[in-house]
Amino acid sequence: MHIDSIQNGVVIDHIKAGSAMKLYQLLHLDRLDTSVAMIMNVTSRKMGKKDIIKIDAEIDLDLDVIGYVDPKATINIIRDGELVEKKNLDLPKELKNVIKCKNPRCISITEQELPHIFVLTDKETETYRCKYCEVKGQ
Ligand code: ZN
Repeated sequence: MHIDSIQNGVVIDHIKAGSAMKLYQLLHLDRLDTSVAMIMNVTSRKMGKKDIIKIDAEIDLDLDVIGYVDPKATINIIRDGELVEKKNLDLPKELKNVIKCKNPRCISITEQELPHIFVLTDKETETYRCKYCEVKGQ
């Protein structure tokens, strides 16, 4: 698999195997007009298996969403067939409107105008909890 098969766009590389679909959904890539390729279970010397997402246009991605799904993923920006930028990620401290609370009595569910906010409470276990009711996010 070579990055140079796209001329201009974004390649999300080193995604933990099995996480590309979740990322695709949370980034709403299905709403893009441009073509998106998901390559799953690629053999990687570094990681064993990995997933890759290639987007055939240089779009702004929500780095918090990618960092939440896999902080070890890397973002490669490709222009004219060349790698021009590589971004590393970190676990975001707060997630806004990325995931929803599972607690049906949570105020973020009953009050529709409230944003869905999750806060990183444990970096080791990558645990996020709802800002309002402290139920664990997934
Ligand atoms: Zn909640």
